[in-house]
Amino acid sequence: MSTNQTPDSGPEHHHEAGEKEAFRASELRYRRLFESAQDGILILDAETGIVTDVNPFMINLLDYSREVFLTKKVWELGFLRDAFASEEMFRDLQAKGYVRYEDLPLETSDGRRIEVEFVSNVYKENEHRVIQCNIRDITERRQAEAERTKLQAQLNQAQRMESVGRLAGGVAHDFNNMLGVILGHVELAFDRVDPNDPLHADLEAIRKAAQRSADLTRQLLSFARKQTIEPKVLDLNATVEGMLNMLRQLIGEDINMVWKPGRDLWPVKMDPTQIHQMLANLCVNARDAIAGIGKIRVETRKTTLDEEYCAQQAGFTPGEYVTLTVSDDGCGMDDETLLSIFEPFFTTKEADEGTGLGLPTVYGIVKQNNGFINVYSEPGSGTTFNIYLPRHTAKTDPLPKKVPVQAAVRGHETILLVEDEPAILKMTSIMLERQGYTVLEASSPGEAIRLAREQTGRIDLLLTDVIMPEMNGRDLAKNLLSNRPGLKCLFMSGYTANVISHRGVLDEGEHFIQKPFSLNDLGVKLREVMEG
Ligand code: ADP
Ligand code: MG
Repeated sequence: MSTNQTPDSGPEHHHEAGEKEAFRASELRYRRLFESAQDGILILDAETGIVTDVNPFMINLLDYSREVFLTKKVWELGFLRDAFASEEMFRDLQAKGYVRYEDLPLETSDGRRIEVEFVSNVYKENEHRVIQCNIRDITERRQAEAERTKLQAQLNQAQRMESVGRLAGGVAHDFNNMLGVILGHVELAFDRVDPNDPLHADLEAIRKAAQRSADLTRQLLSFARKQTIEPKVLDLNATVEGMLNMLRQLIGEDINMVWKPGRDLWPVKMDPTQIHQMLANLCVNARDAIAGIGKIRVETRKTTLDEEYCAQQAGFTPGEYVTLTVSDDGCGMDDETLLSIFEPFFTTKEADEGTGLGLPTVYGIVKQNNGFINVYSEPGSGTTFNIYLPRHTAKTDPLPKKVPVQAAVRGHETILLVEDEPAILKMTSIMLERQGYTVLEASSPGEAIRLAREQTGRIDLLLTDVIMPEMNGRDLAKNLLSNRPGLKCLFMSGYTANVISHRGVLDEGEHFIQKPFSLNDLGVKLREVMEG
């Protein structure tokens, strides 16, 4: 028997009170969990599907009042219809005790769609089976993922273009050289054939075909950014204006061309023939997209691209640009077409109507000039191409020089001709001699240096290829100029590979002629340089 027994039943009482207290505290703790959770929580009666509880986060998420949820069967709630479309989910839940959906769309009271992840499970509460649904808003995550996928696709596209460009550039370079030889010899042969001779017509056919091939090759070269260019500081409005007549002829009378020049444009620095190439290609495409009567708009404007905009467009960098826009109200394009339009030889046109080189050319030109291009199009709602050309800022650039074109194409001077391709060396040499020049032939820069040292008489002009194995044409010119300061230089190039290709251009003021060239082109250019 215990001696310190007390009649008081206090401890018993205290115990009960403590339990109640603990229970209340635990209740509170769990309630807090439910109320402050940053996921939506719904509690349902597992037998009936009636909503028995809903937490504040869920109420805020969809912006419906608590009353809308409670006492309804969950599939009667419009915004949850997708989740509980049928009893299937219910059966699923009963069988597995757990279901989980990603990407379930829900609609808020004001009609916004949000993406949610939906996890629900069944458990027993006092012999009663209940279903708990946890609903997490993943709209932002999905948007970020979509954004990332889009940027990745743009990047892949750019990389693909880069490698196709290298391939095309390599092939086009060799083609260009060979076409130069074909064209050159055809011209030389022309001189010897009487116009009434049937051979004359054959030669004409060869020339036409070779010229067309040369045009194609040139487009490939510009796609591959291997086109030699002569950039000038330009007022884009004036440049475009000078081309409007030509463009109008190109698109025909059924299509109305609207020209909207932007005000106070900044200058850009690029080769005007490239503007011409871009506009011609874009306008021809627009024409082809219009069945019957339609409208093409050509616009210019100043544009400042900010960080935010550039974050949405792979490859864009913030800065000041002059935008050239060509839009049409033609057939437009679907997403699949849009993915491929800049790839060489992609065309949706018949074999004799499209080459698939138009947009690749535009793309190459834009890239060569450190610009950007984007396109908006939808089937049936027309197409808009925007080209962003960087604002030219250097104040020191001289105004474009006007070079008078000389009609007389004959000369008498001595020319040092350097070309590592034997067929071109021979052909060019014949062309020059025909025009009255004395020619010193060298098949390499080394040979040219030796020839120049041995030559006691004067050499008036160096006509050299730009890219050669041992030394490039510019370095050769520098070398020769140190002994012959008055030497004039004319560079020939169809292609500017490694040595200068990271710029892809000769310096302003340096003369060059694009390969392949005709007898007459060469003659005119030579007089320009000799007398300039
Ligand atoms: P091509 O004109 O020889 O087919 P392009 O490279 O110029 O080659 O164009 C590629 C393709 O892009 C076209 O075949 C056409 O499907 C689509 N396309 C280009 N411009 C437009 C436009 N303005 N509207 C609709 N589709 C166009
Ligand atoms: Mg085209």
